[in-house]
Amino acid sequence: MQEQYQLSPIGHVQSCFAEKFAIPRQPALAPAAQGRIILLPPYNQAQALAGLEKVSHIWVIFVFHQALNQQHRLQVRPPRLGGNQRIGVFASRASHRPNSIGQSVVRLDAITAEGQLLISGLDLLDGTPVLDIKPYIPFVDTVPNAYNHIAEQPPQLIQIDWTPQAKAQAQQHAQRLAQPLLELIEQCLAQDPKPAYQQPDSTRHYGVCFYDINVTWHYPSADRICVLNVEQNN
Ligand code: SAM
Repeated sequence: MQEQYQLSPIGHVQSCFAEKFAIPRQPALAPAAQGRIILLPPYNQAQALAGLEKVSHIWVIFVFHQALNQQHRLQVRPPRLGGNQRIGVFASRASHRPNSIGQSVVRLDAITAEGQLLISGLDLLDGTPVLDIKPYIPFVDTVPNAYNHIAEQPPQLIQIDWTPQAKAQAQQHAQRLAQPLLELIEQCLAQDPKPAYQQPDSTRHYGVCFYDINVTWHYPSADRICVLNVEQNN
């Protein structure tokens, strides 16, 4: 008999990332990425959160809700390996996986009076359902001699330039949103969101939405991005 378990979200994530493209592939890679966890009753009460003010980082256990209808595969092709090489699903952190469950360590910046958790360094899409939250415990969760020969180094960063117009637009929207928007754009784009197999043509424009902002860029050369436009969507 195959057992089944029913899980219900305890809340959801409100995130700077309005779409999957250009979200860092793991947490902490873009410290300027901010969001909040909106807990559902009864978990938004002080009783459920008591003690969490003593914790700097939390594990967020969540559902990859925008990967739910995908066929479950035994192997995946991680972007880190150029998108061509296959590895077993259990050797990867891909979003297409059995049960569509993800986990991310994020910084817990504050807890609001309404019981919302302000978080940063996230790699989570806006609207992500949250199944559970656990405190990060440094002496347990940091493994000094651990290795992973598939992911040995953080991603190599590429240079980000701005047109003067795009920079001025970003500064204006950063003020309006009261968010570190320039840092967010630089930290996310520096990880080169385009698929690794694509050879960028300098005439091709790429775009992504952070908050309510459309950001457009191109690759003047393979190892550089130039941000062209930063405007509010309608
Ligand atoms: N840190 C988590 C883990 O290891 O389980 C997530 C890693 S997964 C490789 C991160 C990517 O998942 C992001 O770059 C984004 O494209 C995608 N993603 C984030 N939230 C998602 C969601 N709710 N549904 C589907 N994909 C999502």
